[in-house]
Amino acid sequence: DLSHNIILYLEGITVSFDGFRALNALNLYIEAGELRCIIGPNGAGKTTMMDVITGKTRPDEGSAWFGQTIDLLAMKEPEIAAAGIGRKFQKPTVFGSHTVFENLELAMAGDKSVWKILFAKLSAEQLARIDSVLETIGLKDLRSQLAGSLSHGQKQWLEIGMLLMQDPQLLLVDEPVAGMTPQETEKTAELLVSLAGQRSVVVVEHDMDFVRSIARTVTVLHEGSVLAEGPIDQVQNDPKVVEVYLGE
Ligand code: ADP
Repeated sequence: DLSHNIILYLEGITVSFDGFRALNALNLYIEAGELRCIIGPNGAGKTTMMDVITGKTRPDEGSAWFGQTIDLLAMKEPEIAAAGIGRKFQKPTVFGSHTVFENLELAMAGDKSVWKILFAKLSAEQLARIDSVLETIGLKDLRSQLAGSLSHGQKQWLEIGMLLMQDPQLLLVDEPVAGMTPQETEKTAELLVSLAGQRSVVVVEHDMDFVRSIARTVTVLHEGSVLAEGPIDQVQNDPKVVEVYLGE
């Protein structure tokens, strides 16, 4: 039964702002371990969709499930985050005056006081978790550097690492390569590909070359619903998609 592999179900999601439908009966199904790219012109509803998944916006209609049992529409934003959905916004928000290591330590501890966290002794298991995330995000050698002194790309990777400290089953990433150098973009592609598999990763991205470099399945949103979905080559040549992008 394929539906057992689905980690995120959005069905018939409609969101209206003053009568304008930002999402219009949107259906989206994300499989466990999948790396999915969501593309679409400005105003297509991508941000609103992320807001619905994370509980920031409540839809007027539809249903949203995380796994088989978790009704996202019955939960508040912090509960959804705690249930295993991590969201990376476009702008990195790291603690600039703390080291890379401390940023991960703070992210692991959640919302306890900074003071308490940084003076607590870490268990061997906690140290190992931080080490493993440092390795994943490629910042092992910079663990003692202040986060404020990192490059833009390094800050973005650190923030992804901070989300990983909570071990989310679904990671939502908003335009991860905006403002990155070509080298940083390439490293980010590798990172996101490596993160999928153990968890699902949904990436909203404008940069088509980047999408091409990471995506297996692409979903194109347009006017609040799915215009096309499938392998990138198929979707890119879909006349409906070509028309929408030429009209931008
Ligand atoms: P995208 O992220 O694909 O650019 P959005 O989800 O941000 O699209 O927006 C979809 C549409 O909904 C846009 O036309 C936008 O102007 C409108 N919209 C989004 N949020 C609000 C809001 N809080 N109030 C009114 N209109 C909104």
